Amino acid sequence: MESRPLAHSLGYPRIGADRELKKTTEAFWAGRRGASELLQVGRELRRANWLAQRDASIDLIPSNDFSFYDQILDLSCLLGNIPARFHWDGGPIGLNLYFRIARGARANDDACCPAAASEMTKWFDTNYHYIVPEFDARTTFRLSGAKPFEEFAEALALGIRTKPVLVGPLTYLHLGKAAGIDKLSLLESLTGVYAEILRRLAEQGAEWVQIDEPILTLDLEPAWRDAFAATYRSLRAAAPSLKILVATYFGELRDNLPLAAALPIDALHIDLTRGNDLDAALAALPPAMALSLGVVDGRNIWRNDLDASRKLIERARARGRDILLAPSCSLLHVPVTLRAETTLDEEFRGWLAFAEEKLAEVAALSRIATSEGDPVLAYRSRVAIQSRRASTRIHRPAVKARCEAVTAAATKRRAPFPERQAAQRARLQLPLFPTTTIGSFPQTEEVRAARARWKKGSLSTADYEKFLEGEIARTVRAQEELDIDVLVHGESERNDMVEYFGEQLEGYAFTKNGWVQSYGTRCVKPPIIFGDVSRPHPMTVRWSRYAQSLTDRPMKAMLTGPITMLQWSFVRDDQPRSATARQIALALRDEVLDLEAAGLSVIQIDEPALREGLPLRRADRAAYLAWAVEAFRLSAAGVRNDTQIHTHMCYCEFNDIMGPIAALDADVISIETSRSNMELLSAFTDFRYPNEIGPGVYDIHSPRVPATGEMVDLLRKASAVLPRENLWVNPDCGLKTRGWDETLAALRHMVQAAATLRAQS
Ligand code: GLN
Ligand code: ZN
Repeated sequence: MESRPLAHSLGYPRIGADRELKKTTEAFWAGRRGASELLQVGRELRRANWLAQRDASIDLIPSNDFSFYDQILDLSCLLGNIPARFHWDGGPIGLNLYFRIARGARANDDACCPAAASEMTKWFDTNYHYIVPEFDARTTFRLSGAKPFEEFAEALALGIRTKPVLVGPLTYLHLGKAAGIDKLSLLESLTGVYAEILRRLAEQGAEWVQIDEPILTLDLEPAWRDAFAATYRSLRAAAPSLKILVATYFGELRDNLPLAAALPIDALHIDLTRGNDLDAALAALPPAMALSLGVVDGRNIWRNDLDASRKLIERARARGRDILLAPSCSLLHVPVTLRAETTLDEEFRGWLAFAEEKLAEVAALSRIATSEGDPVLAYRSRVAIQSRRASTRIHRPAVKARCEAVTAAATKRRAPFPERQAAQRARLQLPLFPTTTIGSFPQTEEVRAARARWKKGSLSTADYEKFLEGEIARTVRAQEELDIDVLVHGESERNDMVEYFGEQLEGYAFTKNGWVQSYGTRCVKPPIIFGDVSRPHPMTVRWSRYAQSLTDRPMKAMLTGPITMLQWSFVRDDQPRSATARQIALALRDEVLDLEAAGLSVIQIDEPALREGLPLRRADRAAYLAWAVEAFRLSAAGVRNDTQIHTHMCYCEFNDIMGPIAALDADVISIETSRSNMELLSAFTDFRYPNEIGPGVYDIHSPRVPATGEMVDLLRKASAVLPRENLWVNPDCGLKTRGWDETLAALRHMVQAAATLRAQS
């Protein structure tokens, strides 16, 4: 009989089904658990993951995909690339130094001196954050750890010959930040260490190694493209017996396909859930190179359409080439198991697959390919696909019809900005340099405890609402005492800015335990958008109206924008993201109009995730920005001229998207600028941003209370480059992670700073 394709996996979630890793690591940091206990939990998790994958009939099981914090940090440690400020002595890197690099060293640590944490940034277009490697003229590489070897041996002792996983040398360099050198100048010495690693793995008995080069799905400079061939020739020569699989994911290879196909490797993995052209890959690869098909979506939670996947596999096998099957990328980006989701109804659960279930799908596909498949799984897949296609829980004709009826007029405010600005000035009567905040006020232990009791049922809804009214009243009073101009209600009713809205919208679902690692021990539980989205009832009006009733000053209502609602959720795979965004936008539009009717004169629609939704390839960005901007405008544009629309984004790299930002046509935008000393405002000044703008004057990520003078300086800088009558005064972001004392002190200084500037004008 024909041999079946190897089923493999690119990586498995390491947090544990019950977030054991998070809990133990945090206990270790707090001094409640010792290093040996943490190491033991790590061993147990690896063992459980390997055994789970073996039980799922996965042929090639990964190792070295485990991490106590981040796999790129692990790699930096393995390569001996530790920033000089941590004073590494060149010896073994223990847990304390490892976590210090990730989280920074404090003066009272056992470290010799304080050192800033390494930077963290998003891993491609995911919500996972890695620790950014640092390179400078002094950077050298030397094999400085044994993690991949130890983990390989650990699994071998269980009888599992794993496929060690390493992020490739070009991706590692590309993702780092360099000071004063060309990163590629480091490639040769880096490749030398990789060669040594491969040799040692081969000696240990590894048969396969997986080298991840996801940068092959990016637009690459010629020098980077050219560097691949020689690098992989060296790696090949270092370990001729080792089978090298190069893994790409998160996008299409496009112009990088010929270069990948020419590498001296044994197999290439492509992500078929992100539009890769299978036929192009089949045509480009030399006959001896195996093709690994990423058919099961590692970025989303839907059950695979096994029939559709089988067709792809058959097409690939028809050419006689060796095929491997896998999820599209590491399963790090999905929750661990559906087993804990006991509160979801049977039909809905049947639509889903988390990491554990996805591996079963890969294994089943490998068997289906030679028709010894798992009939039960194949049947369930068919049922799920059928029911999702027809379900009235998903498909709501009224929502679809309303979306289709959207006209260009619905995305336009009634008058151009200057006219609106005049109307808003007449209505709001604000001073020059008006002060406001971004929305949330401190979420104290008390607030969280009350919500927890209410969710458990030990606090009645009436009592919980009384409690929230008390919080709102205190927040409003505090702002009046501070003499802030545009007030907020404080968002104490919200656990999370997406979840709060998702819970009230049709078409959203929530899991009990669907945690995904975001960075280090931080995990998030993204909602699932499964169906047509609509708003059955107002979501925030009650709280904003109440807050407005307590004051004569303008109250600003707070909403989470359509792109952020989309970006921070698992989304439907049965319609384009743009269609889902439009549905959410219409739901928010209704809320905006209800708020306006309730007397709110200022409404803020937060879009902190707009930028992170940018596609990886430049060629795809314009299309995304077009529908994203349309969705925002659709949510906002229904209001009168004298209703002021704000938006907020907690970052400031706007240079390449200034046109679309302006096209949002928000009356006021608040952004983060304090940490860059207003330098990043240049995008707005160069562009001559026409509307009003609130460049953040203090960093809310730190408990430090900035002096009035510091904020005055920042505001002077801003008013030197922007029309002063367009300037607002606000913090960088919401205050929910801060305590009340520091918040009141910082806001008092902020109001004083605004007063100082007014007095000088
Ligand atoms: N309105 C939100 C808050 O103040 C905005 C948060 C954000 O931008 N991430 O908390
Ligand atoms: Zn923010």
